[in-house]
Amino acid sequence: MSSRVYLDYAATAPLLPEVRRALDAFYDASSNEVGWQANANSLHSDGRKAFAALEDARARIASVLNVRPHELVFTGCATESSNAALTGIVLDVLKHKGQVPHIVTSTIEHDATFKTVQQLEKLGFCQASYVSPNRAGFVELESIKQAMRSDTTLVSLIVAHNETGAINDIARIGQYLSEQGVLFHIDAVQALGKMPFDLGTLPVDLASFSAHKIGGPKGIGLLAVKTGTNLVPLLSGGGQEAGLRSGTQNVAGAFAFAAACETACSDYSVLEAETQRLRNLRDFLYEQLSSLPRVHMTVPCDAGSKNYLPNIVNICVEDVESETLILQLDLNGFSVSGGSACSTHSLKPSRTLLELGIPRDLAQGALRISMGPQTSKEDIDSFIATFEKVLSSL
Ligand code: PLP
Repeated sequence: MSSRVYLDYAATAPLLPEVRRALDAFYDASSNEVGWQANANSLHSDGRKAFAALEDARARIASVLNVRPHELVFTGCATESSNAALTGIVLDVLKHKGQVPHIVTSTIEHDATFKTVQQLEKLGFCQASYVSPNRAGFVELESIKQAMRSDTTLVSLIVAHNETGAINDIARIGQYLSEQGVLFHIDAVQALGKMPFDLGTLPVDLASFSAHKIGGPKGIGLLAVKTGTNLVPLLSGGGQEAGLRSGTQNVAGAFAFAAACETACSDYSVLEAETQRLRNLRDFLYEQLSSLPRVHMTVPCDAGSKNYLPNIVNICVEDVESETLILQLDLNGFSVSGGSACSTHSLKPSRTLLELGIPRDLAQGALRISMGPQTSKEDIDSFIATFEKVLSSL
């Protein structure tokens, strides 16, 4: 095998060349802007340069997301963003209303949300209801309505699913929740850069993002907090990020996140063309894999469908474990995942796939193929040929 084919973009996307160039410029010690590397909270001129670079990054991302710069809080990752949003709201309600809030979320959330809600519940800080998806992987407004109670304070929902690619109707759900006066947090990690996404017009109060899913570096995330939404901060300390996230800011990370956002999301026609290119690859891969023996498509994604992300195909293979498939494909030069990346080191079948009604033994053979800007038609052709070979050898 000459070169490897990376098909695990939903786990993390390789650094975009534009981002690498931005980081090179940032760290170029000969540059006049060496002050960028100072502490953004220092009063001297180097510190002020770093602060200006941080605020420039914030403003550029705000412009891409169509929100106001002060509504963006830099964090270390999306897991931290979701923890800060959920815990922050729960503590605020406990503090100001003296009551234990009720949260509605879904059974198929990423662990960053799911386990945070479970933890808050176990600690007695909140009560929670978990809504199941329909068989196609979508969380429906009706199910959310049924789970809501008079004391429901917050609903937290994934926008685009990291395993199935199913895209929830956030605009409709958010509209209903805002009419009910219920706060809405979304996990927009997989949605950013893969679909049109205008946070400014969405009826949501809090949104989590991560740079490394769109070709930015690891170690920098964002929490968007709509003006007027009150949170008790998760991290206390020096009061950075308007008191919402103490700790010296990762200016280089923010700078690179802004470059990734602008490259991947700012030009609508570029985004549209790229998502269409990926959708064509997805449809081809889906069609080819669905014709193979022992292969079951996890969700029913019609050709051209915009209800699923353009870059994810998830299958379940009979009589074989994900780990075996992943390792065999790896030996042949392909990087893919089983469940979500965070659970690939566990042998447990994916909670999401079980929730979709997929039998446990079939869910053990799950495989997620996820594509990105560097994925070509040739990559997909050679993946299919190799996958067939691996499948028939097992
Ligand atoms: N939410 C979703 C949907 C994800 O796919 C991920 C990453 O796997 C996360 C949250 C967590 O993101 P991070 O790695 O930035 O903590």
